[in-house]
Amino acid sequence: MRDAEYVLDQGGKVVVSLGGSKCEINCAHCYIFAPGFQYFPSRGPEEIVDRLAEFGDELTTVYLSGDIEPFLEPAKAIEFLSLAADRLDVDLLFTTRLLIDTEWYAPLRDVADRQFAKRRLVVGCVSIPAWQGFRRFERSRRVATPQERVDQLGRFATELRIPTMLAARPTFPAELVPLSEYRRLLEAAAQHSTVILGEALFLDTDGVIERRLRTSIDNEFTIGRMSFFDQNRDWKIVHAESQIAGLRRICEELDKPFYLRSMPGVELIRDHWDRDSGELAVERVYPLPVPDFG
Ligand code: SF4
Repeated sequence: MRDAEYVLDQGGKVVVSLGGSKCEINCAHCYIFAPGFQYFPSRGPEEIVDRLAEFGDELTTVYLSGDIEPFLEPAKAIEFLSLAADRLDVDLLFTTRLLIDTEWYAPLRDVADRQFAKRRLVVGCVSIPAWQGFRRFERSRRVATPQERVDQLGRFATELRIPTMLAARPTFPAELVPLSEYRRLLEAAAQHSTVILGEALFLDTDGVIERRLRTSIDNEFTIGRMSFFDQNRDWKIVHAESQIAGLRRICEELDKPFYLRSMPGVELIRDHWDRDSGELAVERVYPLPVPDFG
């Protein structure tokens, strides 16, 4: 089987993965468990940056996420971010659902300082898919509680002094995560989140991921391709519209920008985030000042 390659997405973003092995975190909802999923090849940080450099000026944003949890190997993740900061002129995002030991904060802060000195961003995203029901999705004991991850968002903001994103991803239908549970998550995380992200749920058309989730989803889906990954297959893409509308309403109440794709959030931060205050320098976020092309 062929390996996946990097894809230049809307607005010049590329999602990269440190690759190398099947992610041991084994989240029930994760698309890597779709039959025939095409993984990124195993590459060192230097080789990944070489590949990214080939995109030239079209590349504006690199999102370290991909098909394996990036902070399973914190040294490798930070080496990649550091090399990217040195060699590329891009905004950097990283995502994690683990707790990063604070011993890694000094090198991360150094990367952030170098990026901000050249007017580029480092954005720290923390994935939390649910509140009290999170173990349905995240069965690994390596994954901390939602509250501990919310606290990490706070440390990113205050100790790394970087903008943050809560990745409440994917956005599950109400039978998997009731809206009341999303409300608890968003209310807990709002104070520490510059931007809140949702996302469609990607399922395989063979039903493997639905069996992992012990559910069957019969409505609110379309069949289509991923725009951000090089996967030569169709997906069952679940757009939980009423849940997404509910998340939007909650974010509006909390005056937190909510997007389904990360790029509008990056653009909002790029234009309005103030590192001294750690705040978006806009009087009121809603109505959103940039279009959500989610
Ligand atoms: S940590 Fe991320 S890559 Fe790993 S199984 Fe979970 S969702 Fe998938």
